[in-house]
This record gives sequence, C-alpha cells and structure tokens, in this order.
Amino acid sequence: MTLVEKLYLPAIFSGMLITFKHFFKKKVTIQYPEQTREFSKIYRGQHVLKRDEAGAERCTACGLCAVACPAEAITMIAAEREPGEEHLYREEKYAAKYEINMLRCIYCGDCEEACPKEAIFLTDRKVDSLYTRGELVYGKDILVEPVDKRVDVTKRETSKVAEFKAHKEFAHNKTFDKK
Ligand code: SF4
Ligand code: SF4
Repeated sequence: MTLVEKLYLPAIFSGMLITFKHFFKKKVTIQYPEQTREFSKIYRGQHVLKRDEAGAERCTACGLCAVACPAEAITMIAAEREPGEEHLYREEKYAAKYEINMLRCIYCGDCEEACPKEAIFLTDRKVDSLYTRGELVYGKDILVEPVDKRVDVTKRETSKVAEFKAHKEFAHNKTFDKK
C-alpha cells in the first residue's frame, strides 16, 4: 500500500462524498406501504367473480378457467340450481365451491380469457400479505363481488367482449331475465 492508501482518510472521504451526492438526488425508493406507486393500467391483481345486472352469480362452474390455468390454482365444486334460486345463480349449474390458491396464481389472466360467461376478471386490487398459506386460498366469500359493492371491471372488458355482449344470439349472457 502507498502512504496515501495507508492513511485511509482519502478513501473514507471519497466514500462519504458519494454518499453526500446521493443525499440530494431524487430518491428511487418509496415509503411503502404509506406510499404506493402508480400501477400500470394493465396491472392484474386479485380476481373477482362477477354477478350479472340482476345480482345473480354469473359463474356456471363449467371449469374452463381451471383447465386454462397453467398454475392449477383454481378448484371448484359444481351444484345444480334449485327452483327459486334463479335470483342467486344465473345458470342452471353454479359453483357451490370455488377457490383460487393465490400462492400458485401467476396472474396471467388465462382464466379471464377462457371464461365464456364473463364471470371472472382480474382487477387492480392487491392480494394481501398474510402469515399462513391456508389464508391465501381465496373462496367465494372473498371472490364473489358483494351485490351492493360491485367491482368495476370496465377497463378490462375489451371491444370483443362488448361485441359478444351485444350479440342477440348471446343475449342471455347480458342478463338472466332476458332469456
Ligand atoms: S390468473 Fe392465471 S394463474 Fe392465476 S388463476 Fe387465472 S389462469 Fe390461473
Ligand atoms: S369462472 Fe367462468 S370459466 Fe370459470 S367455471 Fe365459472 S363460468 Fe366457467
């Protein structure tokens, strides 16, 4: 080591100078969770199981979302609608149980693409961080939107979906009482 290197002080000062320079630069970090970044317009977060205009669950437990899911995150149990339950379930078959394992999900959106009933959408909501794995298997109690607190998915409804909805042949897909 040279004499200057042996003194260490120049190295310490040059290190402090770099720290000092960064002190006045714009911060790249944010104080999460107090602050959050602006999300991308196409951000895909927590799913929602939609109801139709009359409040009936749209999902018919066809299983296409589960088949399309590359992470095998979706499971469901189908049941038949009983007479008098038309206001609860739009189709004759519905999902008595519907679960998504949020730890398996990779938020690819394939379930949304596969659904013929516009029943499942990914939203811009974040999935909570929790302490146990079991808590991250979301059931219908979390996934189905409340009747009085609908989840807006209009941003995710493409022109093709709008076209499909407007098609008279698929009018039942718009609202169950317009069959
Ligand atoms: S977003 Fe992708 S990985 Fe997640 S449940 Fe849907 S299909 Fe499966
Ligand atoms: S969410 Fe859609 S694709 Fe999945 S079971 Fe229900 S109707 Fe079928």
